[in-house]
Amino acid sequence: MNISENSASTISLKEYGIEHDNVHYQLSPRKLHDITLEKAMGNEASSGALAINTGEFTGRSPMDRFIVKDGVTTDEVWWGDINIPFEPEKFDRLYDKVIAYLNDKELFVRDCYACADHNYRMDIRVINEYPWSNQFAYNMFIRPTLEELKHFEPEWTVINAPGFKADASVDGTRQHNFAILNFTRKIALIGGTGYTGEIKKGIFSALNFILPVQKNTLPMHCSANVGTNGDTAIFFGLSGTGKTTLSTDANRKLIGDDEHGWNNENAVFNFEGGCYAKVINLSEENEPEIFGAIKKGAILENVIMDEAGNVDFADTSITQNTRVSYPIYHIPNVQRPSIGKNPKNIFFLTADAFGVLPPISKLTPSQAAYHFISGYTAKVAGTEAGVVEPVPSFSACFGAPFMPLHPAKYAEMLSKKMTNAGVNVWLVNTGWTGGPYGVGTRMKLKYTRAMINAVLNGDLGLYSYDAYHIHSVFGVAQPRECPGVPTDVLSPRTTWNDDEAYYRTAFKLSNAFRENFKKFEAFASEEIRRGGPQRYAY
Ligand code: ATP
Ligand code: MN
Repeated sequence: MNISENSASTISLKEYGIEHDNVHYQLSPRKLHDITLEKAMGNEASSGALAINTGEFTGRSPMDRFIVKDGVTTDEVWWGDINIPFEPEKFDRLYDKVIAYLNDKELFVRDCYACADHNYRMDIRVINEYPWSNQFAYNMFIRPTLEELKHFEPEWTVINAPGFKADASVDGTRQHNFAILNFTRKIALIGGTGYTGEIKKGIFSALNFILPVQKNTLPMHCSANVGTNGDTAIFFGLSGTGKTTLSTDANRKLIGDDEHGWNNENAVFNFEGGCYAKVINLSEENEPEIFGAIKKGAILENVIMDEAGNVDFADTSITQNTRVSYPIYHIPNVQRPSIGKNPKNIFFLTADAFGVLPPISKLTPSQAAYHFISGYTAKVAGTEAGVVEPVPSFSACFGAPFMPLHPAKYAEMLSKKMTNAGVNVWLVNTGWTGGPYGVGTRMKLKYTRAMINAVLNGDLGLYSYDAYHIHSVFGVAQPRECPGVPTDVLSPRTTWNDDEAYYRTAFKLSNAFRENFKKFEAFASEEIRRGGPQRYAY
């Protein structure tokens, strides 16, 4: 009997306080797809993918992410407005309320795990109110074999009740939605939001605490792939900077698109079993592998389709953050299991909407540590109608919302590992060229890919003084030539055609770096501080 194709399987949830047995255990993705359609909770796209709307929330809600402050976490967590404390008693009460809410609902349960390296494996049970959320868990976590399911003992539990609304005044939440991690009870409690990303990022945040504290392993918000010679590359970056896009490369095997660990046995391993790609303006021509992954089994979120089920990827009327989740085997060229050797190259991706950072530059070890702690990208904020301005956005370790510990802990571990492995570190601006947002244009994906390929093929790997120009503001080494890229694209100043405006804007950014770094100065050595920009506006 194949459990994954069996629609009649059930499981008792009494230990969680759920008394009824209207519980579907381990339904196949196909069955969950069909149930979603039957319940009119989604539609089928012409590609065969399931298309759903996540409801009120189409993105994560960082201000509603809490960590229970108790014996396990009090002294370890970096408390503040990212890691917001929640009282254990309040958690217990809210848990009971959510369970009472779920006690008359049909439920969907999935057993799965995180971490492709079994020394770090975390067995997870996901309990969902909605069938499509359970299919998301199938897509994103690693799928156990039937043999493994026989003696499955979940360590962590995700309880996901999008239809439950908290009462902030009595429950201790900020508003009706919440995502709360409890490291003592090993529960991620998610309510009031249907955004699926909360499920995967809940477990990611749990691992980002557990791996460094208990297993001396570095968790990273990065994608990873491996070349035909077994050379691993990893790509750090905040949302929208290109982790998923650039790691999905026909010529390299995908390890994973978002969450990895770097262990002490010289390997990088994926936490997940699937990908979660942005689909805004997706085209088959530019991103054929991701486009091809959108088929039966994949789940499209918050996209607009015509009557025939054809998706208009340019339509952002629901959100800019349209997404698709799919199991990693939807991508043709993947590494199995999802583990690679120590990386040879590390890319820090940034979408610089000021358009002043070079499209690619090489970082010294000091600069690498400085940029990792800074975690720079830029957002474009619409203010009044028609007026848009770049806003610098700094997120430590390129993933502060998911990092329960002080950024210095992760940075120290990364620096040590980089030195031991002798990696090269590159800063890649996938953002604007020829001027800031509104004036310039987004860097062409084909150029970014050419620059990354040049690094991976060794065409930019050798550090010789002549081959690089040291940027006068940021101090990074900007290559003069790169195969497949017009030479003037490599120098942001040249693309602006206005030196004065260029330097004024570059100083705006270097000042923003300095301002942001103040809060880390006490933790950073002189060597790391030296990795910052070289010049500032006076
Ligand atoms: P998240 O952490 O939210 O998953 P991500 O880092 O994986 O974000 P992507 O999903 O890869 O980000 O998004 C990058 C987006 O930018 C894609 O829509 C891609 O098509 C677009 N893009 C445009 N130009 C470039 C470029 N030069 N390099 C990378 N991506 C680009
Ligand atoms: Mn991604």
